[in-house]
Amino acid sequence: MAVPKKKVSKSRRDMRRSHHALGLNSHQECPNCGENKRPHHVCKSCGHYDGREVVASKAVA
Ligand SMILES: [Zn+2]
Repeated sequence: MAVPKKKVSKSRRDMRRSHHALGLNSHQECPNCGENKRPHHVCKSCGHYDGREVVASKAVA
């Protein structure tokens, strides 16, 4: 197995991750509640996916 020769410092690790942020166009409007959500993901605010509720949301009373 390949083994790292040196520990990667917090600085180098974080510099590498500076490119990991999601782009502006990686969000779409939820057809149910209109909140921004990621494509192919369950909506975080209403728990809907593909036109039905798949995750019970506490917002719905
Ligand atoms: Zn939604």
